[in-house]
Amino acid sequence: MINSISGKWYPKDSSVQYAAQLKVAKTRYEVKIVSSETGNDSERHQNITGQWSQVTINDRLGNTERKLTLTDGSLFTTHNNDAIDTIINSNKNSDTASKWRLRLHRHETKMTSVLTMLVITVVFVFSFIKWGIPWTSQTVAHALPQQTGEFIGHQSLDFMDRYFLEPTQISDAEQQQIISRFKTRLKPFGGDDNIQYRLHFRDMSVGGSSLPNAFALPSGDIILTDKFVELSQNDDEIDAVLLHEMGHVVERHSLEMLTQNSLTTMIVIMVLGNPDGISELATGLGTALVSNHYSRQYETEADEFAFNKMLEIGIDPKAFGDILSRMEDYSTTATNADDAADQPEAEANNEKVEEVEEDKLSDFLSSHPNTQLRIKMAEKYSKCFKQGLKVCE
Ligand SMILES: [Zn+2]
Repeated sequence: MINSISGKWYPKDSSVQYAAQLKVAKTRYEVKIVSSETGNDSERHQNITGQWSQVTINDRLGNTERKLTLTDGSLFTTHNNDAIDTIINSNKNSDTASKWRLRLHRHETKMTSVLTMLVITVVFVFSFIKWGIPWTSQTVAHALPQQTGEFIGHQSLDFMDRYFLEPTQISDAEQQQIISRFKTRLKPFGGDDNIQYRLHFRDMSVGGSSLPNAFALPSGDIILTDKFVELSQNDDEIDAVLLHEMGHVVERHSLEMLTQNSLTTMIVIMVLGNPDGISELATGLGTALVSNHYSRQYETEADEFAFNKMLEIGIDPKAFGDILSRMEDYSTTATNADDAADQPEAEANNEKVEEVEEDKLSDFLSSHPNTQLRIKMAEKYSKCFKQGLKVCE
């Protein structure tokens, strides 16, 4: 039994209002007409009763007044939408054929409008994530003072030293040689004078094997791993990779990435209302889509930066392709050797660790699905270099 719902009643084809109470019990309803609001009670009306299933109810539209067309063609309206919904829901089990038809129709109409809204929302959110956020992030990342990059960079290096990196085995003499060549040969081409470049040497091993890698932090700190230095066959190869990393710093790629990920998360939470359930899924998806797409673009930008600087400085860009393919060969062989040597249990564990860590850290090993394409670009720039060109179209 549902308590009575207050509302207004209008006789058929009339605009005279009466205060009224609606009651629904089981399959029947009753509208009790109380009084006319205009004070004109001369016209008395009988209470109206009938089958609840014969009443036509318009769809709920926010909190606007709900209209119920009664069996005699008169109208009952109320602002108490929740109570009407409760009655509709409680009547779901006592069904007749006509009620089913009514409900089906109502659901179909509702589903269509819900789907339309959903499609519009998805398209809007996707467009904003794909174009709006990268644009905003780029603007924000380039407007931030260099100190922001320094702060974030130092925090990240501390973090990586604690969890991923180990002290280097490279001799001081060899480190000094690379650092002093960096200062005289590369630094003058490092863009903004405010960037404080610093080279760091570390060992990075995953599952017992050392990884060749290089990465740059927004502060201008560039980390080279022992295996990378070991794999390189000449100065040009080391410098080519250093120039690629300088490209990431100059273009502020890591700051853009950070801003993008935070913005994407914030927007999705704002649109979907709360950070649980589906919005978490959407956040993860959005973030993944955006970062995959853009990390590839970042690599291309950093490569182009490096190639152009190599032409200016006088380094054959072929050196970049050489070290790139050697690193890839090494990591492919190393992974296969690991797989063959390990016990099945250990193998599974190692793979998991590798996946996670490479995902987070690797600049050269995992995030470059187009190694062959990049080597081809290096060859193209190498041709220009051999012709003595400073610009390569
Ligand atoms: Zn890179």
